[in-house]
Amino acid sequence: MKTDCIFSASISPYIDDELSAEDTERLRLHLKTCSACRNQLRVLSAMEVQLAAMPPITPSPDFDRTFWQKIDALEEKRRQPAWKQWLNGDRLREWRPALAAAAGVLILCGTFLFTQRPSETGFSADEIVMSQNLELLTDYEIVRHLDFLEQWMDFSENDATDA
Ligand SMILES: [Zn+2]
Repeated sequence: MKTDCIFSASISPYIDDELSAEDTERLRLHLKTCSACRNQLRVLSAMEVQLAAMPPITPSPDFDRTFWQKIDALEEKRRQPAWKQWLNGDRLREWRPALAAAAGVLILCGTFLFTQRPSETGFSADEIVMSQNLELLTDYEIVRHLDFLEQWMDFSENDATDA
């Protein structure tokens, strides 16, 4: 838009009537000889006319109502307890493999406890030792079922990416 002409910067103030009488006169004389500045004056003037013709922006009649509705909705969301926000957020998705693994461990523990039925004659020595070392044995079961766990985690990871 601007030319290399030193009068180029004066054209916009000239349109806005911001130049001194002296500078205005000087520019008018210059415009008679400089086609680049004449061209710039024409383009800038046309732009000013178009801008002036643009209707002023008025908000829709129900702007006030919808604006406060949106504010209320935001406030409502903020008032939700942290755990609810967490559940609704993406972080749950990130944690799904870990949650699935935890669920797998719980299932393994449950299965292990369920299959350890006391014998008809009461608890055997093995079972007493077993109950004392339940945690260790559960860990052992998990190690034994590691393949199953890995499959479970792969499955839930695929599930998470598919979702
Ligand atoms: Zn010029």
